[in-house]
Amino acid sequence: MKTIEQFLESKDIRVTAMRLLVYKFLAEKEVTVTLSDIENAFAKADRTTLYRTVKTFEDKGIVHQIDDGTGITKYALCEKGCNCEIETDLHLHFHCNNCGETVCLTEHKIPQIKVPDGFVSENVNLVVKGICDKCSGQ
Ligand SMILES: [Zn+2]
Ligand SMILES: [Zn+2]
Ligand SMILES: [Zn+2]
Repeated sequence: MKTIEQFLESKDIRVTAMRLLVYKFLAEKEVTVTLSDIENAFAKADRTTLYRTVKTFEDKGIVHQIDDGTGITKYALCEKGCNCEIETDLHLHFHCNNCGETVCLTEHKIPQIKVPDGFVSENVNLVVKGICDKCSGQ
């Protein structure tokens, strides 16, 4: 079992107290979070530092951004072994119209989407909207 420190170092991320805390915060969340969620959780921390921490995680490929159509960017930790590769790693996201939460459906990969010749896909964002399992009570 790798420690978080070792994991971050293996991703070429210099370990700082702040980075450890933000990583743990994200790891404990079952739903995607906004920057304000992170800011609220670390009210004493400098906002720029928090933003840079998330940005670093994203650049190093351990966090992905989700645009769920609400206009507020959400973030979630990537799965182990994820390279955010468009062909293999991208998964569906589900936005609940009732509770407003957006979750990663990591078991459900985005099917390969063909684009016309001359077009180059760089990212695919697929959000399913509806009622989540907690709200539907099923
Ligand atoms: Zn990823
Ligand atoms: Zn819900
Ligand atoms: Zn996700």
